[in-house]
Amino acid sequence: MKVIDHLNAANDTLFSFEILPPLKGKSIQSIFDGIDPLMEFKPKFINVTYHREEYIYKEREQGLLEKIAIRKRPGTVGICAAIMNKYQVDAVPHLICGGFSKEETENALIDLQFLGIDNVLALRGDSIKTESNFKPHPQGHRYAVELIEQIQEMNSGNYLIEDIQLEPTDFCIGAAGYPEKHFEAMNLTTDLQYLKAKVDAGASYIVTQMFFDNKKYFEFVEACRNIGITVPIIPGLKPLKTLNHISFLPKFFHIDYPEQLSKELLSCKSNADVEQVGIEWAIQQSKELKAAGVPCIHYYTMSNSEQVKKIAGEVF
Ligand code: FAD
Repeated sequence: MKVIDHLNAANDTLFSFEILPPLKGKSIQSIFDGIDPLMEFKPKFINVTYHREEYIYKEREQGLLEKIAIRKRPGTVGICAAIMNKYQVDAVPHLICGGFSKEETENALIDLQFLGIDNVLALRGDSIKTESNFKPHPQGHRYAVELIEQIQEMNSGNYLIEDIQLEPTDFCIGAAGYPEKHFEAMNLTTDLQYLKAKVDAGASYIVTQMFFDNKKYFEFVEACRNIGITVPIIPGLKPLKTLNHISFLPKFFHIDYPEQLSKELLSCKSNADVEQVGIEWAIQQSKELKAAGVPCIHYYTMSNSEQVKKIAGEVF
């Protein structure tokens, strides 16, 4: 079933979460071990992130360096199929522009269709670690909106092969939104215009980047509504867990902590202290969002379902 149909059919705020594929060489059991504790909250869909290649350099004879591409977390599509098979819950693979030609994207979508997966979260993806800016594949897409357009074309039966009308796909497409602005955007206004373009191109719902201040989410939703974005906007929450998160998350995800939370974090001396603050903060955020009638709360578990279980147990 499509995510948008789940959202439209719901009488109350839904629970959903996102997992990462395991590191290459680890078994899929680690994924199931992360999902099992959360099944009691009846997720209607589970997202699986996509991780593109990275480059490493290996030293060869005479000091020469060989550049090698590796993908540390392959398996997004296989994991989605396994989740649907084992739990009978819809899985949402993340599909990115980075590293894909249009034809590879088309073929990936055909695989998804054959597997009965009719949801995708369409993203641009970040630059690879060794590049300072995002570089699109020469035959690929520069922005998520172009990927959404390609999927919508397939939904209309228009594949890359010109002049031949083929069997249409039927994908429900989600897109990413940033309550605190995407870090490359000139300002929130242009970012919102590009977000609207993604919706106009065919995204039927939005999932937000993590945020720790609900006010920012509410303002973002209002700004979206003011420019005519009417689709559901699912808030994404990430529970803080380690001392490292205190500086890493603002740096990596370009988000701010509200003053009250930063005060609480400053008094933390150990990972356990941060984890406790993270749980309490996420419970408080979730309760307020649920009371406001958000369609769904999406948790970034980052393979840390025990913490999300404690939060969901207080909210759902
Ligand atoms: P876009 O919508 O293409 O926007 C990228 C930037 O370009 C923005 O600054 C936007 O304002 C600007 N822009 C957009 N369209 C245009 C245009 N036509 N002209 C000029 N500027 C434009 N990354 C992964 O690699 N794998 C994942 O699984 C993954 N999952 C994610 C899930 C969620 C819910 C979120 C919020 C992010 C996720 N990301 C993931 C990260 C995401 O790929 C990055 O944030 C990326 O930098 C932007 O992706 P986007 O789809 O928002 O890009």
